[in-house]
Amino acid sequence: MLPVWIPGSYMVREFARNIVSIAAHAACEPVAIEKQDKCTWVCAPTQGPLTVTYEVYAWDLSVRAANLDQTHGFFNGTSVFLLAEGFRDAPCEIEIVRPVGHQYAKWQVGSALSAKNGSNTAPVKDFGFFVARNYDELVDHPVEMGAFEHASFDAHGVPHHVLVTGRHRADLSRVASDFKEFCEAQITLFEPATQRAPFDAYWFLLTVVSDGYGGLEHRASTALLASRDTLPQPGETKVSAQYKKLLSLASHEYFHAWNVKRIKPARFVRYDLSQENYTKQLWFFEGFTDYYDDLMLCRAAIITPLEYLEIEADNIARVIAQSGRRRQSVAASSFDAWVKYYRQDENAANSMVSYYQKGAMVGMALDLTIREATQHTRSLDDVMRALWARRDGDDQSPVAEGEIERIASEVAGRDLSDFFSNVVYGTEDPDLAALLPTVGITMSWRNRGAGHTLSQVGSELPPASFNVKWGAEANGDARIAQAFEDGAAMVAGLSAGDIVIALDGLRVTAHTIERRLKNYCVGETVTVTAFRRDELMTFTVVLQADTQRICVLTITDASPEATARRIRWLGA
Ligand code: ZN
Repeated sequence: MLPVWIPGSYMVREFARNIVSIAAHAACEPVAIEKQDKCTWVCAPTQGPLTVTYEVYAWDLSVRAANLDQTHGFFNGTSVFLLAEGFRDAPCEIEIVRPVGHQYAKWQVGSALSAKNGSNTAPVKDFGFFVARNYDELVDHPVEMGAFEHASFDAHGVPHHVLVTGRHRADLSRVASDFKEFCEAQITLFEPATQRAPFDAYWFLLTVVSDGYGGLEHRASTALLASRDTLPQPGETKVSAQYKKLLSLASHEYFHAWNVKRIKPARFVRYDLSQENYTKQLWFFEGFTDYYDDLMLCRAAIITPLEYLEIEADNIARVIAQSGRRRQSVAASSFDAWVKYYRQDENAANSMVSYYQKGAMVGMALDLTIREATQHTRSLDDVMRALWARRDGDDQSPVAEGEIERIASEVAGRDLSDFFSNVVYGTEDPDLAALLPTVGITMSWRNRGAGHTLSQVGSELPPASFNVKWGAEANGDARIAQAFEDGAAMVAGLSAGDIVIALDGLRVTAHTIERRLKNYCVGETVTVTAFRRDELMTFTVVLQADTQRICVLTITDASPEATARRIRWLGA
């Protein structure tokens, strides 16, 4: 059987579709092999060992599958290793063979997978034999092969390695020194007394490309894909907006080494790799990880508190801009990740909420609620540590539905059932406007620049808007990518996919439409000419105030008390 999904990415991907040939042999004789369902094969009974030979098409340059060409090789075991039924708990041994040819002489192996012989904490390994205690461990150590560069550092005594595949001119020593800071901050968060990391060594397997962004967490490594522009250049000292994204991604996946790889939904203790595994808790395992990723960068002083507040304000604005948050709770969004979050269509903004984005808001709200309830003596950190303290000898801490809520209430010394039923199982927004002042921060809103001249950004007058997300066709035409519920365009009968070609008889393009709208005021009527498929249609749109607004978090209380509370939260 080949898994249909990879833990950490909650979508059925049918990896078996990439198996292009398969055959079985026993004692040098062919054995009949037949497909039983989309991911399972059955062999005829044999005497003695059975050998199954198969070819995998590996051309998916993402963190989730497998990719092999002359420049490098990368694979997740879930894409390439068939599981023999009944042998899931048996030790596994694999051999990775260097490709033939002088151009591969410098290739090495980068992985947390244990080499059968030799050091297992060194940054790179030789081709040859590797072992895992069982199938689940085998497929939880992605493998990179190639002539990659690497930089290493120790975080609280544990070796960490950053391996970079893809052409770049980055300052990897700076990457290593920044990564070290957030890694140590996270180890200290979970283990303030011992500062013990739950692995012997850790690998960041980073592939840089022209454009791309993604990460997938594993027990002792993470696979990351990012634009090469996110890497800091030699001589650069400031933290660019791009580099912030890479730091945030790496910090996120590293936090998962505890939160979801070890502290995990009870249902994830033994994944069913043949079908969807449902949990209502991704608002915690993903959302709270999203809350902590940037918070740890701030506490590690890689970004400033003001930069941190900017990131969180942006996240709040994204959540509030989506009316789908009124239709779906983050608990329901977690459960339906398989068919909604991971398979978003043009109606997503109206029909669903992100358990990452709103989950991060819930994390902040819960943190501030606990701080306030305990006179700022306890926090969400204590909830994370309480969950970590329950782990077994294998560092596993299964979390049943309802347990996070119970532990949070214990830490707060107050029953928080209402909080969770409103903002996690219900569709209310966490009341951050009321909670942030407890740490001397004020939340406010201002209008976007679209529809305004630059000098009017933030003006009291909201810009006139269709309340859509615009996209561009290859020829430059303006396409409605998303039509927001009850927005001016939707009310007028326009839909996602419509190509808008003229406003009041004047041609517009994706490039000019927002500028043209600056000539109009909220409440004005405009005649819109648009194509739906190849049919020309006319609509009468009454322009509305733009519902997409900018959230601003400002430090407004500089008293010693408020400052002390902020330092406890964000670091000095
Ligand atoms: Zn995540």
